[in-house]
Amino acid sequence: MNNSERLIREEIIKTAIMLHHKNMLAACDGNISYRYDDNTILITPSGKPKFLLEEKDIAVIDINGKVIEGKPSSEMLMHLEVYKMRADAKAVIHAHPPTAVAYSIAHPDAEEIPGKSFSELILAVGKLPIVPFQMPGSLEMGTAIHRYIKNSKVMVLARHGAISFGEDLVEAYNGMERLEHSCEILLKAKCFGAVTELDDQTIDQLYSMRKKIGDKTL
Ligand SMILES: [Zn+2]
Repeated sequence: MNNSERLIREEIIKTAIMLHHKNMLAACDGNISYRYDDNTILITPSGKPKFLLEEKDIAVIDINGKVIEGKPSSEMLMHLEVYKMRADAKAVIHAHPPTAVAYSIAHPDAEEIPGKSFSELILAVGKLPIVPFQMPGSLEMGTAIHRYIKNSKVMVLARHGAISFGEDLVEAYNGMERLEHSCEILLKAKCFGAVTELDDQTIDQLYSMRKKIGDKTL
């Protein structure tokens, strides 16, 4: 292992620990990957709690899912789908953010997290779609996210978790944190009384600002 691969393994572990501390992973849940080069993906292993990960545990697969080293996560198909469809994706995170998942359980027909109540959700990500439920780790899970990947870097996986990707691990992490934080705000608003909405003109202005920011998760 050369020095740059070692640094990426360290970054993956650091990201895993942050997600664990933020309560977005329980026990062995979730997986984090990084596109090291065109054909090489580093990914967290299956069956080990994220806060116990060591550099040697990180698995290596190729872009077609062939295992080169270690025991990759069973949910690697979703990660590969993102890397195949988005040339700009360098890092992918799958986690189980509890408030976001709870929203999908409470609203089985919702197609996205409500995005009209506060500015940051629109400015930071635009929209947060909800992908219909599929069995975790299945081929269908990989294909289910297919139609969302082109336009969204962050999405909820109904009754399961969420996926977020970016040009580096920080952008992917920001997306996951933004999703859960947004859902926490909506939950608290509901507890305080109601999830009210901004007026249409303000929402249009916010989307214009988002357009200028471009396809970047803040
Ligand atoms: Zn999962």
